[in-house]
Amino acid sequence: MRAPLALRGKPAPWRNPSPLPPELSELNLILLGPPGAGKGTQADRLSEDFGMPHVSTGDMLRAQVAEGTELGREAKGYMDEGDLVPDEVIVGMIADRLKDDDARDGFLLDGFPRTRGQADSLSQALSELDRRLVAALLIEVSDDEVVRRLAGRRVCSKNGHTYHVEFDPPKHEGVCDQDGSRLIQRDDDREETIRKRLAVYDRQTSPLIDYYETKGLLRRFDGTRAADEVHDHIRASLATLRLEEQL
Ligand code: ADP
Ligand code: ADP
Repeated sequence: MRAPLALRGKPAPWRNPSPLPPELSELNLILLGPPGAGKGTQADRLSEDFGMPHVSTGDMLRAQVAEGTELGREAKGYMDEGDLVPDEVIVGMIADRLKDDDARDGFLLDGFPRTRGQADSLSQALSELDRRLVAALLIEVSDDEVVRRLAGRRVCSKNGHTYHVEFDPPKHEGVCDQDGSRLIQRDDDREETIRKRLAVYDRQTSPLIDYYETKGLLRRFDGTRAADEVHDHIRASLATLRLEEQL
């Protein structure tokens, strides 16, 4: 039998994308946690590890805003205020995305679901496709840490790759290591909007922690550790998931 993915002894495995072996079932995952917890950072790494798409509703919405579509124009007002975009806008977008070919063997949802209604819609959309979630990965950090992280977050204006001025600086200030594009600060990463987003998270999204715990899907991670450590912990946890599935 092959060793579980996370136990294979390669150095820096996130630099060696390893598609899911055929004998393993789909790795359908969601990432939960407050804004700034490091969901996008971990999703990038995990999607390199396992070769499945990182599906970020925030990135999808920002792409619609940049293209000036009707959906983007509707979403922008909510996003700038730190409010959630209405469920009906988001749910259709995700249901379509999960049917794409690259999501066939698994997906990592980042920033979705964010409400009980979205969680129910996801569960229904998956059961219609005869699929199911295998884990909800919760990354936990304090409110003060969130503010520190988001205030220092910088993103590539072209590919969305994320940096932090102090914790994960680019090689050259203000420039993306990956493609040389300009780094920008997101409009909603200002302190007053950050506080608002935290309140929205507490009220509308944090009830999903109990929701997934009750379903036996929740796995918790200490997000205050360095990004590499959080990544190692998640990989180790996914390896036990695989073992449980094989028992
Ligand atoms: P989210 O997707 O949950 O909003 P991000 O992955 O965009 O969060 O991370 C928010 C900011 O914090 C980014 O600037 C990122 O570089 C930084 N960051 C992510 N993980 C860590 C970590 N474990 N320690 C310190 N900074 C981190
Ligand atoms: P972060 O993880 O830093 O909070 P995201 O990039 O996930 O940011 O989301 C940015 C904004 O996009 C949110 O504040 C919200 O307005 C909107 N958004 C993203 N995902 C959803 C969702 N699933 N439901 C409603 N609104 C969303």
